[in-house]
Amino acid sequence: MSGAKVEKTDQEWREQLTGAQYDVLRKAGTEAPFTGEYVHHKQDGSYRCAACGTELFGSETKFDSGTGWPSFTEPAVAEAVELRPDNGLFMRRTEVLCRTCGGHLGHVFDDGPSIDGGPPAQRYCINSAALAFQPGAEAGSGEDAQTDAGAEVHAGAAADAPPPDAPFAAR
Ligand code: FE
Repeated sequence: MSGAKVEKTDQEWREQLTGAQYDVLRKAGTEAPFTGEYVHHKQDGSYRCAACGTELFGSETKFDSGTGWPSFTEPAVAEAVELRPDNGLFMRRTEVLCRTCGGHLGHVFDDGPSIDGGPPAQRYCINSAALAFQPGAEAGSGEDAQTDAGAEVHAGAAADAPPPDAPFAAR
């Protein structure tokens, strides 16, 4: 599927995004670990691109990686993200981008959790600043109609989570 691309000028992105969002999404920055609002976020719902709104990850694939960044085993829709080799910083990594707007999201690694005793899943290590959480109703179930106006894209309330144990910490 090739959905419509979202293309904006640098100036337009600067005006639309917060400083933190711009730094991550448009400048491939990385937020400091354990500072993002979704690190310990456990609500059911979907994580959308903070720049263009495309659905990227679902809460059912989110896991506690102990790294300090929101981590997912796979995208909600494979085509929603684009993977690209990133050999900067003397590391060979794979960059994850939003296919719709080209925004930088984070990186993906091979050391995710083992599911049902199988081989390790992937670990999509994503910046909170690149995401906008939408609670409830995974695509299709149309159940979240009766909200108080304006209560959809949730911000803040990162919550008091227990201290992270770090089973999947980067080596
Ligand atoms: Fe996007």
